[in-house]
Amino acid sequence: MERLKLCLLSSEIVPYAKTGGLADVAGALLPELKRLGHDVSAFMPLYAAVRRSRPDLLPVDGLQDVNLRIASTTYVFSLWRALFPGTDIPVYFVDCPSLFERASLYTFDPDEHRRFLLFTRAAIECTVRMGGVPDIFHCNDWHTAFAPLLLRTVYAASSELARARSVLTIHNIGYQGIMPASALEDLGLGAAVARLDAGDLGAGIINPLKTGIKFADMVTTVSPTYAREICDTPLGMGMQQILRERLNPVVGILNGVDYGEWDPRCDSHLAVHFSAAELDGKQANRLELREVTGLGVGPEVPVISMVTRFAEQKGIDILFDALPALLATRAFGFMALGSGDDRYVAFFDELAQRFPGQAAFRAAYDESLAHLIEAGSDMFLMPSRYEPCGLNQMYSLRYGTIPIVRRTGGLADSVEHFDPATGSGTGCVFNDYDAPAVRWAVGTALDLFDDRPLLSRLMQNAMAQDFSWKRQTRLYEEVYGLAMAAARSA
Ligand code: ADP
Repeated sequence: MERLKLCLLSSEIVPYAKTGGLADVAGALLPELKRLGHDVSAFMPLYAAVRRSRPDLLPVDGLQDVNLRIASTTYVFSLWRALFPGTDIPVYFVDCPSLFERASLYTFDPDEHRRFLLFTRAAIECTVRMGGVPDIFHCNDWHTAFAPLLLRTVYAASSELARARSVLTIHNIGYQGIMPASALEDLGLGAAVARLDAGDLGAGIINPLKTGIKFADMVTTVSPTYAREICDTPLGMGMQQILRERLNPVVGILNGVDYGEWDPRCDSHLAVHFSAAELDGKQANRLELREVTGLGVGPEVPVISMVTRFAEQKGIDILFDALPALLATRAFGFMALGSGDDRYVAFFDELAQRFPGQAAFRAAYDESLAHLIEAGSDMFLMPSRYEPCGLNQMYSLRYGTIPIVRRTGGLADSVEHFDPATGSGTGCVFNDYDAPAVRWAVGTALDLFDDRPLLSRLMQNAMAQDFSWKRQTRLYEEVYGLAMAAARSA
């Protein structure tokens, strides 16, 4: 394929700033696209935390103290640059202290939409001023979802930008960035306000993600099943129709795994390594996990774990009845690592108190412990209500830790229910979003644990799976090709 000039716009990129899967995808795609021979660059905001941890950023000449007006406010921003680790890919940081010098990446401040509108516009305008307008702006989630409309309206008269195409990737359609219609002036659309969704404006809102879905040349999301779910089921969270009306349908591309970080053969967080051929090391990790977490169950008793954000999406609600009943009747240990909503923290706290030594809970974000949990557990539970892609089930497969997942989104695309009759499959998959279904799936997994030959087959199947980025990057490349060729509706 011809060499493309690609510019990724993302509100977070590993290793600079991360709150979720978006950062992982961005950080993995950049070097892989470069490896395929494309000319790649990226933009992200210069958050306070990034400024503190990256004293080595270099100022970009000619792009210091630039004025950019949003409605009646003039913001001043500067551009800084770093090279993405191990590559010569430039990553540009939009520095606007009045907007990004805050305690967290995302806020509930009234100017939240302005923070990302300024970021998006600054990024687009900087590519012009640096003489490096890309063939494609690859936007991600609501934060940069106004770029496609801006390119077709405000910037359409620019000779440099007129030919630039846009791709929008939806990492989670639950976050749409909805803002009040009173912010209309901030968009600076002039007569092009007519392109916004009239129904939304009438209802007093503007929906950035919906705007991106409507005007991007191509839209992707992070698994094929989620792509179908957001078009055809309530999981589209109101976006079903606008997605279905697109000239080019939404494309689902499963996220890849960074096996440099997540491989039991070389995981830097583990004291003892192991592989499918040499499984002894998993036992050492089992013992260490018990020691670190205070789980008192013997080494012959399986441990089921969870590592997750505590959000409604993750399906913890259906565990409220199921888990205590299972712990009371079956022999297994349970470990949860996570942080977020108080009611889930309270649930796991109470569980650990009610089943001392059998259930453990760590309320934290702990990267190192997450690796030990993958290595030292026997099963990994993801009962998600919805899951655009999910990464932990793919990590679990590689660590021989049997995933127990609900059939939704990326979980459905990466775990196949094990069939003892044929010996094919990689985990336990359940359909219904309710307590009986999760009880069935956990019970089935525990039964398999007691049948050593079957368990061994299942673990070998799991560990043989390959979800590396190489294949997936080719699929993004195809999408870029389609965006270049896309006819435009309006
Ligand atoms: P989401 O982006 O919806 O949170 P993903 O499964 O795509 O879900 O990605 C979550 C990532 O964050 C995984 O790498 C997971 O291991 C990590 N993670 C989530 N919660 C924690 C935690 N409490 N401690 C350590 N890592 C966590």
